[in-house]
Amino acid sequence: MALKIIVCAKQVPDTNEVKIDPVKNTLIREGVPSILNHDDANAMEEALTIKDMYPDTHITVITMGPPQAKDLLIECMAMGADEGILVSDRALGGSDTWATSNALAAAVRKIGDYDLIFAGRQAIDGDTAQVGPQLAEKLDIPQVTYVSEFSLNGREVTVKRALEDGYELIKIQLPCMLTAIKELNTPRYMSIGGIFDAVKHEIPTWGAKELAIDLDTVGLEASPTNVFRSFTPAAKGKGKMLEFDTVQETAKALLGQLLEKHVIS
Ligand SMILES: Cc1cc2nc3c(=O)[nH]c(=O)nc-3n(C[C@H](O)[C@H](O)[C@H](O)COP(=O)(O)OP(=O)(O)OC[C@H]3O[C@@H](n4cnc5c(N)ncnc54)[C@H](O)[C@@H]3O)c2cc1C
Repeated sequence: MALKIIVCAKQVPDTNEVKIDPVKNTLIREGVPSILNHDDANAMEEALTIKDMYPDTHITVITMGPPQAKDLLIECMAMGADEGILVSDRALGGSDTWATSNALAAAVRKIGDYDLIFAGRQAIDGDTAQVGPQLAEKLDIPQVTYVSEFSLNGREVTVKRALEDGYELIKIQLPCMLTAIKELNTPRYMSIGGIFDAVKHEIPTWGAKELAIDLDTVGLEASPTNVFRSFTPAAKGKGKMLEFDTVQETAKALLGQLLEKHVIS
């Protein structure tokens, strides 16, 4: 079987390194290393696992972002993807999730032929978990989110969808869109040979013109989301350990303190 898989991947700031501008309360992105979004690495790994089983499978990775997002495509190709496409244009800058999914849907339509789209559940910076589902809606294909297990039988996919207190087993036909969570797999590393091959790859850049997209559907002006305020949550105070010899004594002390602070009455 030879499948055509598209993986949507986003370059995000490495959260361990993120600093907040104390005056503007915004993320300081300058000089902050960027990484492949965690859930997208799981999406990528699942596509590669399918390719391991069916070597004629073709994996295309799409990312929308500034020119440096090319690095992410090289990373994905070094992991084993066949090609990468950068969606980038000043006209797309400032896109919210609605506008982002419009641009990604236009890129998928331009690719044309596909069986399966993998996205991550959520980007660690924007954090909305909206882009994958919106993309599926715009392409009019079925979708399952929060995928923690995947298997394929012909053109029938069976997935385990994680819920807060359990899971659902869902059967779905290709073509479809799935969003990956970290429980799905353990992403592989780039291979040395893969890195050498990847840097030689031509990476096409598709802008608004190549996507033949209506400019009223992308970019900051077209984005219906407005961010009214962003703020840094105040740092939590140091925790207090209650250390007594018995559980009963600890519970009694905790109860006393909660009553004293009027947390309970
Ligand atoms: C007014 C406004 C302006 C904004 N301007 C910018 C900006 O200039 N730059 C910026 O980075 N963000 C900007 N954002 C944030 C932007 O809306 C989101 O980062 C972006 O739309 C993706 O949403 P998310 O990060 O919540 O992704 P989620 O919906 O949480 O992502 C889910 C999955 O969708 C896929 N995905 C998401 N984004 C992309 C992408 N770009 N390419 C490929 N796959 C993707 C990934 O697989 C990801 O795991 C802006 C938001 C608003 C409201």
